[in-house]
Amino acid sequence: AASHQTPRDEIGPRQVRGAAFTWVRPEPQQDAELLAVSPAAMRDLGLALSEADTEDFKQTAVGNKLYGWDAATLSGPGYPWAQCYGGYQFGDWAGQLGDGRAISLFEATNPATGVRYEVQIKGAGMTPYSRFADGKAVLRSSIREFVVSEALHALHIPTTRALALSLLPHSRVRREVTEPGAIVVRFAQSWLRFGTFDLLRARGDRALTRQLATYAAESVLGGWDALPSRLSDPENPTSNPTNLTSPPRSIPKDEIQGPPGSEENRFHRLYREIVRRNALTVAKWQAYGFMNGVLNTDNTSILGLSIDFGPFAFMDTFSPSYTPNHDDHFLRYSYRNQPTIIWWNLVRLGEALAELIGAGPDCDSPTFNGINPDEDDPAVSDPLITRAEKLITLAGEEYKAVFLAEYKSLMTARLGLRVFRESDFADLFSALLDTMESLELDFTLFFRRLSSLRVSEISTASAREEVAARFFYHDDKVSAADRTRVAEWLARWRERVVQDWGTLEDWGTSDSDSKGGAVSDAREEERIAAMKSVNPNFVPRGWILDEVIRRVEKGGEREVLKRVMHLALHPFEDS
Ligand code: AMP
Ligand code: MG
Ligand code: MG
Repeated sequence: AASHQTPRDEIGPRQVRGAAFTWVRPEPQQDAELLAVSPAAMRDLGLALSEADTEDFKQTAVGNKLYGWDAATLSGPGYPWAQCYGGYQFGDWAGQLGDGRAISLFEATNPATGVRYEVQIKGAGMTPYSRFADGKAVLRSSIREFVVSEALHALHIPTTRALALSLLPHSRVRREVTEPGAIVVRFAQSWLRFGTFDLLRARGDRALTRQLATYAAESVLGGWDALPSRLSDPENPTSNPTNLTSPPRSIPKDEIQGPPGSEENRFHRLYREIVRRNALTVAKWQAYGFMNGVLNTDNTSILGLSIDFGPFAFMDTFSPSYTPNHDDHFLRYSYRNQPTIIWWNLVRLGEALAELIGAGPDCDSPTFNGINPDEDDPAVSDPLITRAEKLITLAGEEYKAVFLAEYKSLMTARLGLRVFRESDFADLFSALLDTMESLELDFTLFFRRLSSLRVSEISTASAREEVAARFFYHDDKVSAADRTRVAEWLARWRERVVQDWGTLEDWGTSDSDSKGGAVSDAREEERIAAMKSVNPNFVPRGWILDEVIRRVEKGGEREVLKRVMHLALHPFEDS
């Protein structure tokens, strides 16, 4: 989209119309100190680790060094820019927001992988979108973003990434107290958010909506052919979305079918791709107990990335109504609400794209020119809206199906099972989560400790009672009833592990013998390794990050950042 700024024609934050971004320059920084880099991020961008020691890298990491641009037009491949977007915040339309303190420096393609990233710095000063704030970022929140981005990535949860963290020694950023400032270098294949489309919808900018949707499909999501194929045949029950049980690890194309004549077009396929990616990501958040804390539409990515890390948290003691956001009095963004809220956000996106989605199959013809972008055009026809609504609802079915399949598959793996059975949902998943909630067990620790438990250690009730104590924080204070509750769950789990991994001889001779059975040592080793590879030993908990922040800020320590980054990047290793 072309850049175009209207003059400041009203009191208040600058409105940038008819454009999805503005060229901006980062503030020059003095004596910045590079505190740490993510070795994994360096690798993924195609940089050798040693490059982080160069002056070039250090200056680029704080926005002092820019790459070539055309001085006459102040634009070009290396001239930095800030994105324009809006958003629904806590359910209400908030108007224009935009990158208030993030500035994109350039796009870079890793020659080895062919993956292209948009590289940003955050905290380098004001942009036209800073509204009433200062465009800066404090060290505290920068450390949090730096670590969690890389931790989520290592947990195989789609996320924006963090490359480097620099301290701005002369900056004093005013928050509740005055804090040191910092800059994080971060990158993603795209930083487009639902809010980018929301804003264009709010402004009735049909031409730019279409242009941006086309850009998203063609330049971000791999082209129209890479999107899910059309819905069709509802008569085929095996392809009904609600029957989807196979885990959509790589996104399958053809298993979701809708009514014939659903008149789907390529923009609906684009919408469905965004729906699917977000369904997969939120399923992973739920399975790993990650909470974003502020799931406004400006913090929801069209690539389904975890994005914008403010008051995020990983679940400690399991509590589904928990939110790490202290201002979220209605618990809108609590753990248990995340799947519903992401769907709410997706419906807003569907509305923003409704004219394109509802335009009918003709829009797939090369001559289709879209809805007439003339502002004076009479209201869009009813059949178009009806069709769009129907198609959004269908995508909702797909959302549920993809979410559930992924959630089941992750939980099945976390529990060390190879095959999911319908009864596992109630007997194992729900029973475990209910137990964790009422006994205040630690969500991450439970799965890790379960991983190395051998079925031979829990073959009798008394052994299970004893082992149960391991899952409590303070095992001296555990009541007998609490232990029994965990022991009973362990009995069920053991039974399923034996069923899943035991050999026929091990398994015993009749169903009534199912409390017996055994699993060979080799199989046990295999299961334990598999479980350890999906159940992290390390997640960046709030108190750990607080400790790291305290040491860097007050103690002037630097090594601790390297150590925590190592842990974040290797979450499945034994400590
Ligand atoms: P968030 O709550 O992080 O989603 O931010 C909402 C909006 O406020 C975004 O447009 C941010 O860019 C902007 N914003 C947040 N903090 C600052 C800041 N310190 N300076 C400028 N803009 C900010
Ligand atoms: Mg945001
Ligand atoms: Mg933010």
